[in-house]
Formats: sequence, structure tokens, C-alpha cells
Amino acid sequence: MSVPLQQSIKIGLYLMRQRLAGVKRYPLVLMLEPLFRCNLACNGCGKIDYPDKILNARLSVEECLGAADECGAPVVVLAGGEPLLHKEIGEVVEGLLARGKFIYLCTNALLLEKKLDQFKPNPAFAFTVHLDGGREDHDKAVSQPGTYDIAVKAIKAARAKGFRVNINCTLFSGAEPGRVADFMDEVKALGVGGVTISPGYAYERAPDTQHFLNRRNTKQLFREIFRLGRGRKWTFVQSSLFLDFLAGNQTYHCTPWGNPTRNVFGWQRPCYLLGEGYVKTFKELMEQTDWDAYGTGNYEKCADCMVHSGFEATAVADTMKNPLKALAVALRGPRVDGPMASDIPLDHQRPAEKVFDALLEQNLGRLEAEGRAQPTHRRVQG
Ligand code: SF4
Repeated sequence: MSVPLQQSIKIGLYLMRQRLAGVKRYPLVLMLEPLFRCNLACNGCGKIDYPDKILNARLSVEECLGAADECGAPVVVLAGGEPLLHKEIGEVVEGLLARGKFIYLCTNALLLEKKLDQFKPNPAFAFTVHLDGGREDHDKAVSQPGTYDIAVKAIKAARAKGFRVNINCTLFSGAEPGRVADFMDEVKALGVGGVTISPGYAYERAPDTQHFLNRRNTKQLFREIFRLGRGRKWTFVQSSLFLDFLAGNQTYHCTPWGNPTRNVFGWQRPCYLLGEGYVKTFKELMEQTDWDAYGTGNYEKCADCMVHSGFEATAVADTMKNPLKALAVALRGPRVDGPMASDIPLDHQRPAEKVFDALLEQNLGRLEAEGRAQPTHRRVQG
């Protein structure tokens, strides 16, 4: 696991404070989406078909920093959309660093080289570059040839200027363990800090929902990848127990409040992956969400979810409770054979609700009323 020592200590102290104070639900990572606009149109993304008026809306620097203050999570992930399309993203990062946050800026890296001058290297700041496999697999996943090569060139440029760089890799059905293993070797050779790896979440609005992994396939895929990874010294930016969960060795319920999400619609309920409602304040999100209505076994849309934004906080809480178990997995790697941990039964889950269109209308109306939903003639702003 590759997380700077100072960051691990500060997050450990934060978690201990929450436990000692008896706080039942607390945030670990703020997922901050300053805009939905992207300069790619990936098949696995549920955000690219928002109307232009929504894609053009932005959170201001003040709103971004206000969200971080309101939430108090020690880590902020800047996601989207493509955060580098936000003209003031450098100011957002500076403001978050001044607040002592640890920041991961997720990017497809198409604009990274051009925008590097907006940032300064800092141990608390890392770019997380989205690469869904080697050249062929990634370019296919993002539906644009040449993207992998641009990203790799940008990673080298960022590393040369002293920036921390990690990789975020999402796997879909059809992922071949051998190719994933080769990809892991490739990114290791690039000198990146580590990789965040996760199965894709089946966004109901994604153009290609057939290619998401179900739970059983996810566990088998990760067992095979981790088996191939033995002795190859890959570094993950994830807890050992989350990786063990991916390999089918832990029965975890998600912790959706662990990664609360703020975007141009407000605070998203219940989690980063699922937008079933929006509220104005973080307090409302935490206190007024019916958390038991969501999660695997509770809601049909959650049945196959094993994504890090939902389950990493569960694994971290388990690590705090069972440090020796976590250490054992960290030392020997996730178990890749033998029986899997029992899965959560799905017999009593409530059926999926169709909420997208009503929420879209409601959010668009609100953005228009606030004068924030402006039409544009330009597809992408740089
Ligand atoms: S399982 Fe949890 S994290 Fe995953 S979509 Fe459902 S509520 Fe969100």
C-alpha cells in the first residue's frame, strides 16, 4: 500500500478521534466533483449524457472549499467530469492544501501536460490518472484511440517535475487477468506511486451497461490477477483488506457516508456511485438519509457493487478493529484459493427505483433559477 507516512498517521489519528468520540458515521474521503463536463465520452460513464446546461455548470472555488470545511474529511478526491477543465482548479487545490487536506486529483490526463504549471508539487497532493489497462484496452474503454499514449507522456512529464502520480484502473467484464498483470508491470515501470483498482459500477445511464462485472465474476477475476501478481511487487493505493474483499475473502457491507459526494446538484444521496437525491448541506445528508435503504442486500441497484468508493471505508474501519488481520493480508497478499467468504443474500432487496428523469428535471430547474445553467456553443472548455 503506497500512502505517505505522514498521511497514514494523520488519517489514523482522525479515525481514532472519531472512534473515541463514539461517532457512528463519519466521512473519510470527500468526493468533490467541481463539474460534470469531460473531454472524453467513456462507455462506462453515466454522466456524459447530461444536457449542455448541466455540463457547463461549475462549483466555484468558494463552494469547493466550503464543501471541504462542511464535511471535514481528511482526504479530498477531485473527480468529475474532468477536473482539469475547471479554470480555477489550481486555486481549489491550493485552498485545500492550506486546510491540511490530502488531495487526489483524478484526470484522464489529456490536458495534464498543458496544465501542470497551475500546480506545485506537494507531498499532500497527487494526480490520479485514469488508465483502464494497457494501450489497447484503455483506448477501447474510453472510446478514443491515442489516449493511452497521451496519458503516459503526461505521467512522465508530471513525474519529471516532481509530482506524485497514481493510477486509477477500472475493470469491466472481459478483462483478461494476464493483460491486467502486464499493465500493472507497465505502470510500475513508469515509477508511479501506486494503483487504485476496482470493478466498474453499473451506472444505469452508462451507454454500455452489459459490460459491468457481477460479484462472482469480480472475485474470480481479482483472485486470478492477485495470483499472477505474486512476487511482481505491485503497489496499490488501497488497504490490504479492501483487496482481500475484492478477492472474495471478506463479507463487507458498504459505507456510503465514508465517501460523501458534493457536486453542482448539491450533496448526493446516498453515495458517489448512486444519485437518488440531493440535499443542500452535509448535515442534512448525514442526518436525513435513510442509510438502511441502500447497500448490497437492501437495494437492487447495489447488488453487484464492490467499488472502492463504497467499500474502502469499510475495510479501513475493519483494519482499525483488526490490525493483525490487516497486517497478515498486507504481508502475504490476498488469499487466491479456497472457499470464498459468504455473500450477502439478495432475497429481500427492494426493487430499483427510476429516479433519474425526475431528478434531472428538478436539478436543471434549480440551476436555471440560480442562473447557473448556461447554454454554450463550445463542446469543451480548456
Ligand atoms: S452498494 Fe453502497 S456504495 Fe455501492 S452503490 Fe450501493 S450505496 Fe453506493
